[in-house]
Amino acid sequence: MVAGAGKAGSMRGPWSIDGRMVYPRELVLVGGGHSHVQVLRTQRSAPLDARVTLVVDQPLAAYSGMVPGLVAGQYRPEQLQIDLRPLARQAGIRVIHARCTGLDVQGRRVLLEGRPPLRYDLVSLNVGSTVAGAGLPGVREHALSTRPIAAFVRRFEQLAARGAEHVIIVGAGAGGVELAFCVQARLGCRVTVVAGQLLARRPGLNARLREAAAGRGITWEIPARVARVEAWGAHLEDGRQLEADAVLWVAGAAPHAGLFEGLPTDAAGFVLVEDSLQVVGHPEVFAVGDCASLRDQAWVPKAGVYAVRQGPVLLQNLRRSLLGDPALPFEAQRDFLTLLNLGDGTALGEKWGQAIQGAWVFELKDRLDRDFVAKFQVLDAQGRPDRGGHRAP
Ligand SMILES: Cc1cc2nc3c(=O)[nH]c(=O)nc-3n(C[C@H](O)[C@H](O)[C@H](O)COP(=O)(O)OP(=O)(O)OC[C@H]3O[C@@H](n4cnc5c(N)ncnc54)[C@H](O)[C@@H]3O)c2cc1C
Repeated sequence: MVAGAGKAGSMRGPWSIDGRMVYPRELVLVGGGHSHVQVLRTQRSAPLDARVTLVVDQPLAAYSGMVPGLVAGQYRPEQLQIDLRPLARQAGIRVIHARCTGLDVQGRRVLLEGRPPLRYDLVSLNVGSTVAGAGLPGVREHALSTRPIAAFVRRFEQLAARGAEHVIIVGAGAGGVELAFCVQARLGCRVTVVAGQLLARRPGLNARLREAAAGRGITWEIPARVARVEAWGAHLEDGRQLEADAVLWVAGAAPHAGLFEGLPTDAAGFVLVEDSLQVVGHPEVFAVGDCASLRDQAWVPKAGVYAVRQGPVLLQNLRRSLLGDPALPFEAQRDFLTLLNLGDGTALGEKWGQAIQGAWVFELKDRLDRDFVAKFQVLDAQGRPDRGGHRAP
C-alpha cells in the first residue's frame, strides 16, 4: 500500500510502502535564472516526481533585457523583477535563501554559505554569470558593474541623482550598446563607449548604430581597451586618459569564481554540458544559461535568449531523468531576433541580416519583454497574474 501518493503536494513523501519507508528523490535547483523560473512555473500544473528545493542568493530575480529601459527611465524596478518566493510557494517548492558555494559531486551535496549542505539526487545550476575583466585594476573599486543587477541599478540611481557630464561605457555587446543610448537619454550627458569591437555578433547593425549615435553625444573608442579604472575616469592601454563621472562595466560574461570546482569546464571556466544540458560525465548534474557551455555547440553566446530557450528542454530532461528515460538534445537556433533599446522610444533590430528600426520596434521589444516577465510575476491579492502594474510610467 502506498500512503500519501497522488497530488502535487503529496508527492513529496516520504511514503510507507508495505511497511517500508520510501523517500522521494531530491531535486535541487540552484539559481533563479531564466530557465529555472520556467521549471518553477510548470511545477504547479505538471509536477516533477521529486521533492524540489530552490536555492537562491537573491529572492528577487531581475530580467536583464529590461535593465537598459530601466536606466532610460522607461520602467520602474518592480516591473522587471520576478519574486521567486511566491512562484515557488504556489508549486509547493521549498526555497532556501542562501548563496551556493559549490557542489560536493562525490557526496551529491549542494554546499551553502552559512548553512548545512543539501543532499540531491538531481541538481540543476542556473546561476548566470558575472562580468568579465572585473580583476583589472580599479574595476571593483570604481566602476559600476552591471552584475549583480540589483547593485548596478542602485548605484546607477545614485549617479542619476548626482547628475553627470560624461560617462564611459566599457563593452559594446548588446548590453553595452543599449546602455550607451539609454544612459545618454536619461542623463543627457556625453557617453564614450570603449571596446575591442562594436557589436561583434551583429556587424550588419554597425552603420545604423553609428548613425543613431551621431548628434546624441555618443562617441566610440573602438578598437581600444581600458587598462585601469580610477575614481576620475579610465586609463586606456594606448596611454590616453579619459576623464568621466562614472565608468560602467559591461565587458561580457565570466563564470562565478570557485562555484564549479570538481566539474568539467571550458577554457573560460564555464561548466561544460552535453546537448542534453547534463554536465559532461555527471548525468545527475544539469547546467543551463550563462553558467554553462555546450561542448558540441560551443558557438552559442551567453545571452538570455538561450537561457530562455533551454528552459523547456531542461524541464523535459529533468522529467525524463526522474523516469529513467534517456534525455533529449537541446538544439540551439543559429539566429534570433536582436532588439536594441535606443532609449528614446525607438529600437533597432535584426534577424537573418534584415535590419528594422523605429518606434514600432521598441513597442515590439517592450511587449515581448513585459509578456515574458508577466508570466512569472504571479500574484495579486487573489493569486492571479497581476498585469496592472506593467505599463511604463
Ligand atoms: C545590461 C544587460 C542587458 C542585457 N540584455 C540582454 C538582451 O536584451 N537579450 C539577451 O538575450 N541577453 C541580454 N543580456 C545577457 C543576459 O543578461 C544573460 O545572458 C542572462 O541573464 C543569463 O540568464 P541566466 O538564466 O543564465 O542567469 P540569470 O538570469 O543571471 O540568473 C542567475 C540566477 O542565479 C542566482 N545566483 C547567482 N549566483 C548564485 C549562487 N552562488 N547561489 C545561488 N544563487 C545564485 C541569481 O540571483 C539569479 O537568480 C544582457 C545583459 C546585461 C548585463
